[in-house]
Amino acid sequence: MDKILVTRASMPPMQEYMDEIADIWETHWLTNMGAEHEKLTVQLKEYLKVDYISLFANGHMALELGLQALNLSGGEVITTPFTFASTTHAIVRNKLKPVFCDIREDDYTIDASKIESLVTDRTVAIVPVHVYGNICQIEEIDRIAKKYGLKVVYDAAHAFGETYQGKGVGSFGDVSMFSFHATKVYNTIEGGGICYKDEDYGKKLFRLKNFGIRDEESVDGVGANAKMNEFSAAMGICNLRHVDDEIAQRRKVVERYRKNLSGIDGLRLNVEQPDVVSNYAYFPVFFDEQRFGATRNEVSECLKRKNIFPRKYFYPLTNTFECYNGQFDVSNTPVALRVSKRMLTLPLYAGLDLDTVDQICEIIAQAGKEAVD
Ligand SMILES: *Cc1c(COP(=O)(O)O)cnc(C)c1O
Repeated sequence: MDKILVTRASMPPMQEYMDEIADIWETHWLTNMGAEHEKLTVQLKEYLKVDYISLFANGHMALELGLQALNLSGGEVITTPFTFASTTHAIVRNKLKPVFCDIREDDYTIDASKIESLVTDRTVAIVPVHVYGNICQIEEIDRIAKKYGLKVVYDAAHAFGETYQGKGVGSFGDVSMFSFHATKVYNTIEGGGICYKDEDYGKKLFRLKNFGIRDEESVDGVGANAKMNEFSAAMGICNLRHVDDEIAQRRKVVERYRKNLSGIDGLRLNVEQPDVVSNYAYFPVFFDEQRFGATRNEVSECLKRKNIFPRKYFYPLTNTFECYNGQFDVSNTPVALRVSKRMLTLPLYAGLDLDTVDQICEIIAQAGKEAVD
């Protein structure tokens, strides 16, 4: 079998991209909020159903500067360890202290019923993650945030284009971050965005992605450089025309996986959340080795031997990373620890052949049986 990776970047027809970038040869304007950047900003605001969006060079810098623009100096931030390195690093790089809350068994998002017991007089914000595109317990998180005066910053990197009760997921909390990385449902090659509601916050954020420069003669923020360039924005404009079709194709792949795997004892497939229009970003499977007969790692090795490369999103947990030198006690998040050792994310992208999906499922089923025999 040809090498099958967990995802494959979506790309528009080449000619379409050539047409989109042609003007750049007229203007010689390559970056710093050019015409493509401005056009994409308007289109994404509409597509995502949000008040405002600010575009970035990548999702991580969007999150890091999105937090910085909230002026949360020196407090504690309640967050989840079951996420990509970026979420925790963005908190720590802002000199804030992550306080890890456990996750839910069913959708792997932060367990809102455990947040309140972690609130102290130093808590300044909550940073939850819509893991695999599963939407967090928005109402409960909102209630807690209001009660204690906390900011809510959603890592919505997995949730591009989703709606909850008809509202764009980027419209929840104070701020939401989307990633437009090549591996995500929608890409600008590299890229990201922060969705927000407060115009003054937006001005501050705008300056922070451009070195904190207010005008030619004044610099009033310790900013970074995280602007989206014109070639990325042009890619985003083209990909946005095709994203609904891409999501529809992903849906077919997901339905095939579900059909093939739903009857197998010891496998738990992802939840389908009511009120959520899904983007079919990932196909995570939980392996209960007692009932299934093989461990997640054994299944992963079986697939790799057949040239199929699933990923263990999210393993290891961020509160066990070497760079954090044992600062965090993983026994505080037992559900996350158990889940992270048992999840495998299977290949999923628009255009993944349904026959290949069948073969992947066959290899998985076989791995369970062989281990039992
Ligand atoms: C991809 C991702 C990010 C970072 O986004 P980049 O665009 O790659 O910088 C942050 N959080 C989560 C959960 C992600 O999956």
